Amino acid sequence: MRHLIKVKQSIMEMKEYVAGKSIEEAARSYGLDPNSIIKLASNENCMGPSPKAVDAIKEAAANVHIYPSVDGVELREEISRRYNMPIKNVVVGAGMDGVIETLLRTFLDKDDESVIPLPTFSYYENVTRFCSAVPVYSKRKHDYSIDTDDIIAKAGERTRFIFITSPNNPTGNITPIEDIKKIAESVDSLVFVDEAYIDFAGSSAIDLVRKYDNVIVGHTMSKAWGLAGLRIGYAFIPEWIFSQYMKVATPFNLSNISISAAIAALNDGEHYRKSVETIIRGREQLMKDLPFKALPSEANFILIDTSPLKSGYVVDECMKRGIILRDCASFRGLGDTFVRITVGTKEENERVIAALREIRDKA
Ligand SMILES: *Cc1c(COP(=O)(O)O)cnc(C)c1O
Repeated sequence: MRHLIKVKQSIMEMKEYVAGKSIEEAARSYGLDPNSIIKLASNENCMGPSPKAVDAIKEAAANVHIYPSVDGVELREEISRRYNMPIKNVVVGAGMDGVIETLLRTFLDKDDESVIPLPTFSYYENVTRFCSAVPVYSKRKHDYSIDTDDIIAKAGERTRFIFITSPNNPTGNITPIEDIKKIAESVDSLVFVDEAYIDFAGSSAIDLVRKYDNVIVGHTMSKAWGLAGLRIGYAFIPEWIFSQYMKVATPFNLSNISISAAIAALNDGEHYRKSVETIIRGREQLMKDLPFKALPSEANFILIDTSPLKSGYVVDECMKRGIILRDCASFRGLGDTFVRITVGTKEENERVIAALREIRDKA
């Protein structure tokens, strides 16, 4: 028996991250043909990747014996040009998840705090915990808008981060820029604005990074840009954080394939616009025809309330019909009757609408 090797207490207390089921897992557990399964569980782009990104991946493949740039500088330059932001305000990571992890490892000491408005994306809480810091929750209002006053009241001496997800996952609503401003002006901590789904919504908070020294805006190429499998995220940060972030970031955290594909995707505006248009149209189709109460959404997914049916039951019944949806019972503070549906192609949307009708009528 070893006595000195111990997993950190903060890790022992954590729950494992719950992701949407993969097609392979679903095929195995439900005895289905993988080709018949549609996955509307993880908010990926139903239009696939940009063909130009795919070409860039093939081209980059010949050079994978060479290390990529240590800090993803080619991609950071591209982002810096597109958004008209100096390069020292742009950092990249292995997905936005990777960026969040590096930022929290840079700032969170033991017993520091993150303020997290619930329900929301669970990874903020996980990283906070594995930094031995403490998540502090703020309950969203009835319409799932954030409670600005409560957040400001909860931001204290030990608060290092406040997480604002806009549009929010899984509720789909945005936070008005005015509310983010008010929080940034009222607190002595960093405000991380997660804009994973901003492409499907209105205006970005990027301008606030230019005005405030405590606002960070995170973006990802996993959703509208169709590159979830490559793990590419970036953030706009105040310049004073840059060199500290660089010390903490894993060297070479973007592969040369990821860097090339991301640059090619960013330069394929046509595929991007077509994706966003198709998804917004699909969102309207689902809003109109889904047989359960749906929350208004500015993202590429819709949250439905399946009550009186339990979300676990509805997700399981959909799975039997070859449709993977996200059971939201694992989201802290949401309850057990919510299911998140990623907007798919017209045909995929029709299939999920028909399946849900059948499940509702049978119950
Ligand atoms: C998908 C998602 C991310 C990050 O995705 P990456 O694939 O790690 O870039 C971040 N925040 C929210 C709210 C998300 O839904």
